Amino acid sequence: DVGLVTFIGAGVMGLPMVRNLKKGGVTVRVFDVREDVRNALEAEGIAVVATLAEAGAARGTVIAMLPDTPDVRSVVLGPNGLVETLPEGSLFVDMSTIAPAAERDMSERLEARNIAMVDAPVSGGVIGAVNGTLSIMVGGTDTAFAAARPILAHMGTTILHAGGIGSGQVFKMCNQLMVASHIQAMCEAFALARAHEVDLTLMSNALRGGAAGSWMLDNLGPKVIAKDGSAGFRIDLQLKDLKLANDAAFEKGVPLPGLAVATSLYLEARAHGEGSNGNQALFRTFDRLANQ
Ligand code: NAD
Repeated sequence: DVGLVTFIGAGVMGLPMVRNLKKGGVTVRVFDVREDVRNALEAEGIAVVATLAEAGAARGTVIAMLPDTPDVRSVVLGPNGLVETLPEGSLFVDMSTIAPAAERDMSERLEARNIAMVDAPVSGGVIGAVNGTLSIMVGGTDTAFAAARPILAHMGTTILHAGGIGSGQVFKMCNQLMVASHIQAMCEAFALARAHEVDLTLMSNALRGGAAGSWMLDNLGPKVIAKDGSAGFRIDLQLKDLKLANDAAFEKGVPLPGLAVATSLYLEARAHGEGSNGNQALFRTFDRLANQ
């Protein structure tokens, strides 16, 4: 028995993760700022709490799956935040993708109150969240990792202890750098193929069987072929992650030219109003460049 789990942030990723916890027999309750989200959860028989204060009031594990660094900071350090409300001996698991330095800062403050914490960002997309097959990259002490692992096992299949607090986020930003480059490569190839009027599905099948195969081609290739820009993983969130990687590169003076190009292309997409579309909507950037 992993005890009570309180889940904060039931969005695109959080909702299917909550469903998998419940399916696994975990006692789970959810807090989301959006009332419509809470109502939908209740309608499907999932317990909700209406305030952040209530979310932190019970001993157990609190998981956050929130968009960005300020969101997690406000839930932990803001008014009625977890650092005030969580009982001693609790565990906080941040599965959002945010800045490693913020994880270290929050962990220090929680530890001062005898609350353990890990950062545990994920990869695998919405499909991984739905199927419970996420790859989860965990930063924290051995003890905190051991406590979090049986809970994470309901949501993912690859659960790795990356190192100390914040190191899960370093793994994840490297993942996001590769995600951006893979999508860029795929969208460029499809732009060239479109211009030459070949059959895109046939080409995709040929490439998937060879050395250019990728998760992107398998999962997002069909959407690019269908000219479907829907989310999925929003371009706004992709840019948030590219900024995290750019900041980390600056911090250590690491030149990352591919990241610089991908960042500019995604900024172009956002400037054309694509921020809330899926990251594969980058294909439209290449269509614009080629005027096709
Ligand atoms: P989302 O915007 O769909 O979901 C976030 C949820 O959090 C929303 O329901 C929102 O109402 C809620 N929320 C926001 N602020 C809150 C607060 N202060 N208190 C309570 N609830 C609050 O985002 P998402 O796509 O589920 O992504 C969540 C995180 O997971 C991000 O850091 C993202 O980068 C990461 N991620 C996303 C994907 C993906 O494919 N979407 C994949 C891997 C990782």
